[in-house]
Amino acid sequence: MNSPEPADAGISIIGAGPGGLTCARILQQRGIAVTVYDRDPGPDSRDQGGTLDLHADNGQVALREAGLLDEFFALARPEGQEMRQIDPTGTITAHQVPAADELFKPEIDRGQLRNLLLDSVQPGTVRWGHSLDVISGPADGPRRLHFADGTSIETDLVIGADGAFSRVRPAVSPAVPEYTGVSFLEAWFFDVENGHAEIAELVGSGSAHAADGERGLFAQRNSGDHIRVYIIQRVPVDWISAGGLTAEDTDGIRAVLCDEYAHWSPRMRQMITENDGPYIHRPILALPVPHTWDHNATVTLLGDAAHLMPPLGVGVNLAMLDASELALALANAATVDDAIRTYEKTMLPRSTETAKALEHGAEHLLSADVPGFGGDNDAQP
Ligand SMILES: Cc1cc2nc3c(=O)[nH]c(=O)nc-3n(C[C@H](O)[C@H](O)[C@H](O)COP(=O)(O)OP(=O)(O)OC[C@H]3O[C@@H](n4cnc5c(N)ncnc54)[C@H](O)[C@@H]3O)c2cc1C
Repeated sequence: MNSPEPADAGISIIGAGPGGLTCARILQQRGIAVTVYDRDPGPDSRDQGGTLDLHADNGQVALREAGLLDEFFALARPEGQEMRQIDPTGTITAHQVPAADELFKPEIDRGQLRNLLLDSVQPGTVRWGHSLDVISGPADGPRRLHFADGTSIETDLVIGADGAFSRVRPAVSPAVPEYTGVSFLEAWFFDVENGHAEIAELVGSGSAHAADGERGLFAQRNSGDHIRVYIIQRVPVDWISAGGLTAEDTDGIRAVLCDEYAHWSPRMRQMITENDGPYIHRPILALPVPHTWDHNATVTLLGDAAHLMPPLGVGVNLAMLDASELALALANAATVDDAIRTYEKTMLPRSTETAKALEHGAEHLLSADVPGFGGDNDAQP
């Protein structure tokens, strides 16, 4: 089958995360029709996660292409670029305060970013409640998307923006994410200035990292008087069930953490044990490096689906840059096939290079000396 012109092609994006929505927005702005399918029942069906820093050389580049940079800066928190390194006693050992005009990587709540992108696409673009199960059809198309509810649709191009456990990925690659040996437990603190004043003071306006070589934490100020702490441990992936616990057993997990962090000061232990509500278990996974695939004119991947890496401050930025470059390639190419070749020629080497640099990066979060602290090579979730 001849590859269609992008403007005449049926284009389906799987996943309404930051990557998928950025791609849809830029395509629509350039007059190319697209439909986004997401497994969530609706836009507000789950918490969207913590804060993200969008970098001037990738995430912000994508937002500029999407015509959303001014709206981003209206929501963003430049003061969130403040960064503290704290030792287990609670002493600040390194401290960076951004200059008043520093805008290289301001923070934005993930929910705010998602709403910004969602409001920017045409009404009806996202079909909620569509969980992709499998893709069928020949490599030269057309492809058929089969959803978990038994429905299916035919499409000329499938863009897999469906994150770590992508159901699009198997159409181009057998790779699956592997456990890095490091797990996060996410802990939430609300109304921090009143309810958790010491934690608010320790964390400041941005992020604070502490570690002793074996365990650590990363605390981040979000908007709305809210702080999220990622408790970082080198543990087997099944450490909760192996300890006879469940993820919902907050008291049981807290008791384990009290033992594990017993030698940390009471002030620091507050960030581990005085959270509001349950812990959220987030084992850190990554795709094998390098992750590439043979060109295929009807299926491609972007963001975490293409190059899941440890969370060291680049994932959403790369996802949005991929999305922008793919959409622009489709807007400028004669055929879908040409566009995918152009996109992958840049994206695959770039993501390989970054993934190699971050391959053992999850371990760095357990080190008291976080590589990149104070430098351009960001090393933070
Ligand atoms: C704890 C933590 C902290 C992080 N902090 C940062 C940070 O500070 N900075 C940064 O740059 N990155 C950070 N990251 C990484 C970042 O979250 C990801 O890289 C980014 O979200 C990837 O975007 P995406 O659009 O590719 O995928 P996702 O954001 O994962 O979106 C995927 C979308 O696809 C949908 N979906 C999934 N499966 C299906 C299916 N089968 N059918 C239909 N829809 C489906 C999902 O519902 C979702 O909406 C962090 C990650 C973690 C775990």
